[in-house]
Amino acid sequence: MRITVLGMGYVGAVAAAGLARDGHQVLGIDVDPAKVERYRRAEVPFYEPGLDELVREGVASGRLQFALPAEVEPGRLGDLVFVAVGTPSRASGAADLSQVEAAVAWVAEQHRKVKAVAAGPSASAGRDPAGSDGLPEGGPVVVMKSTVPPGTGRRLRHRYLETAGIAYVSNPEFLREGSAVHDWFHPDRVVVGSDSPSAAQQVARLFQHYGAPVVVTDTATAEMIKYGANAFLATKISFINELANMCDRVGADVEEVARGIGLDPRIGSQFLRAGLGYGGSCFPKDVAALDHLARVYDYPFELLRAVIAVNARQRLLPLYALREALGSLAGVRVAVLGLAFKPKTDDVREAPALDLIPLLVEEGAEVRAADPQAVERARPLLPASVHLTPSALEALEGAQAVVLATEWDEFVRLDWEEAARRMAEPRLVFDGRNALDPERMMALGFRYRGVGRGRFT
Ligand code: NAD
Repeated sequence: MRITVLGMGYVGAVAAAGLARDGHQVLGIDVDPAKVERYRRAEVPFYEPGLDELVREGVASGRLQFALPAEVEPGRLGDLVFVAVGTPSRASGAADLSQVEAAVAWVAEQHRKVKAVAAGPSASAGRDPAGSDGLPEGGPVVVMKSTVPPGTGRRLRHRYLETAGIAYVSNPEFLREGSAVHDWFHPDRVVVGSDSPSAAQQVARLFQHYGAPVVVTDTATAEMIKYGANAFLATKISFINELANMCDRVGADVEEVARGIGLDPRIGSQFLRAGLGYGGSCFPKDVAALDHLARVYDYPFELLRAVIAVNARQRLLPLYALREALGSLAGVRVAVLGLAFKPKTDDVREAPALDLIPLLVEEGAEVRAADPQAVERARPLLPASVHLTPSALEALEGAQAVVLATEWDEFVRLDWEEAARRMAEPRLVFDGRNALDPERMMALGFRYRGVGRGRFT
């Protein structure tokens, strides 16, 4: 098939390269000239394990090409046009759909040009003949990979696509940064929502060979599945964090509690890791967008509001703990290990460390922070006084306290004996991810504290 993907970010690039691997002829489009230039050299402009090889393979095979919108001939879009542009949060929490609207309007405009040329000078922008399901046939199908609030697909269809003769399919994406390539080829499920059964089948067939269950449904339901999944996972995280905070108060160990709870198959052990809460480009904005949508529909989604409030507090736990242990943070050197919102990515969007560090600085701490991949992305978002380095040991030099904010392997397996030598008294360790062994850390001379597993000793 000939496929176009709009938006060459984490999702779009994986989709484009994954579809090229499956034998399709794929055109990846982005509005950012610097990104397009790098992709053309078969380079990926961000860190995602395994994606470099996949892009190199696609480019070498000739099946994966890249372009700016202005370079695309109108007839070049092909059978399916995936939209994978950003849907960030507005200040209100609502999803900002301006990139999505621009992308969909552009597709409609391109298709109109094709039809005008095909029909000759007297052609007008009329509808394509209706197919058996009453929807247009013959035009490309817009496949929405971006996460958009329930109701968006129908609105986009009415506003831009119906008159242009283009069908619309919601095909939300569930890949996770850090394992995006694996997730693309091994989905748990494929969700396809459309008011056009023929377009839905066309998209479902594309993923058939992955062997995952396919949920074929209407557009709004598909959109709600994506929000429901992310909101539920965020709820699980905030729930275990609430339990962790209780564990700290009653002297229980949340790690054991999570194990004991998670062995119940109705609950399951995943996403029961207590810590500094969720971050990243999806959970915070998608939960906020669902909360906003609830307000628009005059429904007080109380549970979701609590999930958001718990998460906002959770990321500041190290600040509270260090203040309590040290009295004041003025002049205290604090090392923060981890800037990315989770390991194996350079994505710092909504990363807990980025909320925490400015507050530590405000309280007078001298902050040194390390991350193996995310330093350059974090730099413009942090106070200039923060010393940034890829090396944990360099960040720990002379520090009285360290906060583990992201459980990169490099940090968990650090030479903590050497770290103890480089650090200064009182060698506080706030393990924001419960990733270190408390007994070992204390044996090495650290004063350890995790989340829901005991206080500094
Ligand atoms: P991203 O910000 O990394 O990439 C978006 C890209 O779209 C950028 O490169 C931008 O330049 C480009 N773009 C903007 N407007 C465009 C246009 N009109 N035409 C062509 N390109 C355009 O975003 P992302 O993280 O890949 O997320 C994309 C969507 O997928 C979002 O809705 C997100 O919620 C959803 N999603 C993301 C993940 C994830 O883990 N990142 C997972 C599932 C779903």
